[in-house]
Amino acid sequence: MIRNRRVLLASRPSGWVTEADFRIEEAPLPEPAQGEVLVRNLWLSLDPYMRGRMSDAKSYVKGVELGEVMVGQTAGEVVESRHSTLRVGDKVLTQLGWQLYGTTKEAMRVDERRAPLSAYLGVLGMPGMTAYFGLKEIGQPKAGETVVVSAASGAVGSVVGQLARLWGCRAVGIAGGPAKCEYVRKELGFDACVDYKAGDLGAALKDACPKGVDVYFDNVGGEIFDTLLARMNLHARVVVCGLISEYNATQPYAIRNWRAVLVNRIRLQGMIVFDWKERYGEALGALAGYFGQGRLKYRESVVEGLENAPRGLIALLRGENFGKQLVKLA
Ligand code: NDP
Repeated sequence: MIRNRRVLLASRPSGWVTEADFRIEEAPLPEPAQGEVLVRNLWLSLDPYMRGRMSDAKSYVKGVELGEVMVGQTAGEVVESRHSTLRVGDKVLTQLGWQLYGTTKEAMRVDERRAPLSAYLGVLGMPGMTAYFGLKEIGQPKAGETVVVSAASGAVGSVVGQLARLWGCRAVGIAGGPAKCEYVRKELGFDACVDYKAGDLGAALKDACPKGVDVYFDNVGGEIFDTLLARMNLHARVVVCGLISEYNATQPYAIRNWRAVLVNRIRLQGMIVFDWKERYGEALGALAGYFGQGRLKYRESVVEGLENAPRGLIALLRGENFGKQLVKLA
């Protein structure tokens, strides 16, 4: 008999997450109620925000309770349906979390002829939407401007830089290590990429951005953000999208370059992708269009098996992923 397996939050980490913060258990297969589908999850998306959900600190959404299934977006196949429009065999996106099966009313059908199923969790999914709305609506880049993005080889950053190029800007990435930087330049087609682990980031940014920085899309916060502030142009914009360098820190980073914000009238704005949920169709249309034309590339880091999801999340938070971090469940 088929049984469900799921990963629960066992304890709240203080500082770095460890595998001991999770517990794996078996459970009976859930039965779909009227209006629901039973979905077999094939892919689980691992995302940096999950670190925040393991904590009980106040945030834009509530954290996971101890003993609850870890939250997460999944891509899977309908195996039983009591839903009015979804059929057995349909491929769907759901929020079923870290488990092999789940029931839900809320599943979004996706078209595998347009892109592989896993791409709907990355380049054509939430990270792609984050890049699209953050850059377009908050960054407001104009052709000829310089756009810098950190975590440039990752799920969000890779799309930000490619969109910046498609929209006529100079795209400069920041990434950790020569392999990621080479990928960002050669495969993704950024104009330049700076290795922040190689030493003097300020000087390297000065070389890579001879006309200064007009838009900084910040995925990491901390010292990289601080260094960028000193390179920003008059009326530059900062998209505050993520602070991954601080998610496991016990003390926040103290910014030194605030003066640059005042002197250059820099506009900083935080973004949460859900704020644009009414317009996801617009972003999907644009991203799928570029993707179909071969103008939007992506890469995935895949760990196999639900039991390895905790290891995958820890690797992501340490920057060991190279592209969108996924767990292959089947
Ligand atoms: P990525 O695929 O970019 O993976 C994370 C990357 O972050 C790592 O590969 C690593 O790249 C980099 N990183 C990790 N630790 C550090 C560090 N200490 N300093 C600098 N870089 C580090 O993840 P995502 O694309 O999914 O997410 C990127 C950011 O966007 C995250 O901060 C996330 O929270 C945020 N986000 C925000 C959303 C919103 O609505 N606001 C929605 C989605 C994501 P490298 O090796 O190059 O350092």
